[in-house]
Amino acid sequence: MTTVHTGSGATLTLVHPPRREGGEGCIHECREHPGLLVKLFKPKAAGPEKFRKIARMVEDAPGGLTANGHPLCAWPLDTVAGAPNGPVAGFVMPRVDGPDIKPLWSCLIRGEHSMTQRHLHAIAINYAWTCEKLHARGCVVGDIHPNNVLIDHGTGDITVIDCDSFQIPNPQGGVFGCEVLGLPGYYPPELMGGGASAGTRSPQTDSFGLGAVVFHLLVGQAPFGADANKTAEERVAAGEWLYCGRGQGPAPGATPWAELDPAMRDLFVRLFDDGHGDPAARPSATEIRKALQTSKGNLVECGNGHWHVAKRPQCCWCEREGRRKRALAGRRFRRMTAQGGNILRAPLIGPRPVPILHLSAPSAVFRFLSTVGALCLKHRLLLAQFAAIAAIAYLVLVVLATVLGVNGV
Ligand SMILES: [Zn+2]
Repeated sequence: MTTVHTGSGATLTLVHPPRREGGEGCIHECREHPGLLVKLFKPKAAGPEKFRKIARMVEDAPGGLTANGHPLCAWPLDTVAGAPNGPVAGFVMPRVDGPDIKPLWSCLIRGEHSMTQRHLHAIAINYAWTCEKLHARGCVVGDIHPNNVLIDHGTGDITVIDCDSFQIPNPQGGVFGCEVLGLPGYYPPELMGGGASAGTRSPQTDSFGLGAVVFHLLVGQAPFGADANKTAEERVAAGEWLYCGRGQGPAPGATPWAELDPAMRDLFVRLFDDGHGDPAARPSATEIRKALQTSKGNLVECGNGHWHVAKRPQCCWCEREGRRKRALAGRRFRRMTAQGGNILRAPLIGPRPVPILHLSAPSAVFRFLSTVGALCLKHRLLLAQFAAIAAIAYLVLVVLATVLGVNGV
């Protein structure tokens, strides 16, 4: 156990091992307050400027950044030090549980948590709304990517984490900057080559990352995914996003361009084409939220509880399920065919007589079993099924031989 002292005079006991450990420091649960977490920086991982920033964040904590009592971001609530009135070593923040955004697409595909495109839109709207609120306070998230936002599956509420990397206004002038560059594929081209801090960020910097996360949510793939040919960063630098050619087909399972609402298509073009070299051309977080609301409003529900774009005559999710079932059936057929090939080569039952059964005409038995095997193969039965049928057939023969007193079936 480690004891730390908050700036407001409380003593907290940290639970070991830490809940999460990163390059900067460790995040601990707090024994006295299960609803709080404490981030302790590693020695030399944070300098005086960082601690001044955290002290300022605590001083200027936005009380209203909640939705239905749920914190929209894990904003620092208090500073902590190793000794009373000692130098700041970390901070206290609200505890938030939940998965990040990335697994949501697989939940949608599998129908888990009753996840639909409507839910994904609601989550994306909540995220854009949170960015709007932060921008209105003069803050910039800076490091936007799918791992930095946690989701409550039940309500769709979101919480932005790692808030100590936010860029916030400095009352003495200028800003306390964002100290991290971010995740490749989610930070815009103008930040490349600028080192970890990469200079002052703007709401348009966030628009790029927010748009990339929204794209990932609704399409099921990152817009600037790495592959064998290029890294995500190279794709961002070249402006090669998933639909920059529009007609280009995505990987199986992703939402095709035509299945996105026109409001979202316009938005992504403004973000990743028009705004590639011109940050001012990117839509704001407010515009991103409004486009998402338009898209959500245009979704229609099919008889199977899916939500899809209104213009399509058929539900794309029903079609997708049909394709998936057919693909699965095809895979099963191919696997069984392969096993059938193994049956031909595998000596399932040897030609030797089985002494315990005293059958003196094994060749006849083997001929019979071969016939059974051929029938199984013809009907594409699995290896295990063939073995079971062969065993039953063999036992029947033995019983018949015993009952009839035949010594040589
Ligand atoms: Zn459907």
